[in-house]
Amino acid sequence: MNKQGDKYIKTNNIIKLETKINILHKRLNNIHLDYRHKVTTEIVKTKPFRVVMEKLDVTQMLKNKHLSQSVSKQGFYEFKALMKYKCEKNGIKFIEADEWYPSSKTCSKCGYVKSKLSLSERTFICECCGAVIDRDKNASINLSRYEVS
Ligand SMILES: [Zn+2]
Repeated sequence: MNKQGDKYIKTNNIIKLETKINILHKRLNNIHLDYRHKVTTEIVKTKPFRVVMEKLDVTQMLKNKHLSQSVSKQGFYEFKALMKYKCEKNGIKFIEADEWYPSSKTCSKCGYVKSKLSLSERTFICECCGAVIDRDKNASINLSRYEVS
């Protein structure tokens, strides 16, 4: 139906659908942007003396097909840039932890460092002291103790 000669042309319905999809994408982007603003403002409001974030190699992460979608959707880079900006604006120290700092692999309770920790392990279980803690919480505690060298 939408063939004109040997070329395909967009029907009105397709044009309408494309417009709808574009509007949805814009709305989604706005929702993500709004979320990043809300979260970073909430963090700044707690008046921390400093914020430590990992130096995440986003370009490396984007190469991992399992990670890339969630990484780009969550706008890690934008989140960090916003966090840094709000810290500077509010006189809060912003620190980027070295990308080799084992924030996830280290036990926040005893300091033991695991040699391996797969991304699917969402709970940190220490084979040394037996601590059981949410993976992200464990990493957060370690980052909060990060010492700048
Ligand atoms: Zn431990």
